[in-house]
Amino acid sequence: MTVYNFSAGPAVLPKAVLEQAQKEMLNYRDSGMSVMELSHRSSEFDEIIKAAELRLRELMAIPDNYKVLFLQGGASLQFSMIPLNLAKGKKAYYLVGGSWGKKAYTEAVKLSKTIDFEPILLASSEDTTFNHIPTFDPATIDKDASYVHLTTNNTIEGTTIYDLPDTNGVPIIADMSSNILAVRYNVADFGMIYAGAQKNIGPAGVTIAIIREDLLEGNDPVLSSMLDYNIQADNGSLYNTPPTYGIYIARLVFDYVASLGGVDAMEAKNVEKANLLYNFIDNSEFYSNPVSVTADRSISNVPFVTPSDDLDKLFNKEALEHDFKNIKGHRSVGGMRASIYNAFPLEGVQELIAFMADFEARNK
Ligand code: PMP
Repeated sequence: MTVYNFSAGPAVLPKAVLEQAQKEMLNYRDSGMSVMELSHRSSEFDEIIKAAELRLRELMAIPDNYKVLFLQGGASLQFSMIPLNLAKGKKAYYLVGGSWGKKAYTEAVKLSKTIDFEPILLASSEDTTFNHIPTFDPATIDKDASYVHLTTNNTIEGTTIYDLPDTNGVPIIADMSSNILAVRYNVADFGMIYAGAQKNIGPAGVTIAIIREDLLEGNDPVLSSMLDYNIQADNGSLYNTPPTYGIYIARLVFDYVASLGGVDAMEAKNVEKANLLYNFIDNSEFYSNPVSVTADRSISNVPFVTPSDDLDKLFNKEALEHDFKNIKGHRSVGGMRASIYNAFPLEGVQELIAFMADFEARNK
């Protein structure tokens, strides 16, 4: 039976990419060695990282006045690097629509005890278990603030910001970890975008940061070099040894996405997959999706529950036996969650729905 991996990350990768990596594993393009063994200063790796950046620029239509960085430390390190580099002694607003956004805010509050800036909770939907994207009055934002941080896709709760809010002219910094390259955004609408790679880009260990150059002016001279965007940018993401193999796989994934028609084609396919699943859930009296505002539903992560915790448990057990892997909801919320990123096939969604219908018939 085919295994379908519904993991929220590390997540399913395109089979064609894994096959190409397998083909090139022992001898990368006549270098006589694997990519893992190449020097990060070699001409071969130079070609890989430059091609990766170029393709990402093309896929996301990244304007020339944005730096593209390949960093480490996951999206979580960005929760600290952002205030360290960009808060600049001013106010920084946090729109918290999910657990990851809350972590970003919490990290900022912690840092504000040692560096000079003022993190402000702009709005949060935590009191309703993050079941929708919180809204706010743009007039409450001080025009002089350094940034407004938000999460475009709340991986755990299954909500998405599709249309960016009005932030009174203050640059938006977005954690795009779980829907980068899956939904089309206009990069010029952001001051910065960042994403851990392990959902739509490649293996864990690479973090992409896309930063508007003017935000990098006037940096802190005592900031640790590894944490300094300017130093990373000035060194072309090669200040130290970067995660070379992860960047190589990212490059293959970018090429693969381009070969299928780019982000718009990915988004159309993701909408088709998500609509199938949401329509099935909406037409069922057995399953439900906890998101309260339909327009906020994520096309990347689809959480759902049965009528009881016991049935959720049974569903998860039987799903696993059916080779539907990692469909259990995040430990903080329970239930189920189908993560259906770019590389997740339509057939997997169709088979899940058939299984859900069968499970319902046997248990209602
Ligand atoms: N932000 C979001 C939206 C995420 O989904 C995740 C990981 N699931 C993170 C941040 C944390 O990423 P990392 O593990 O790369 O630090």
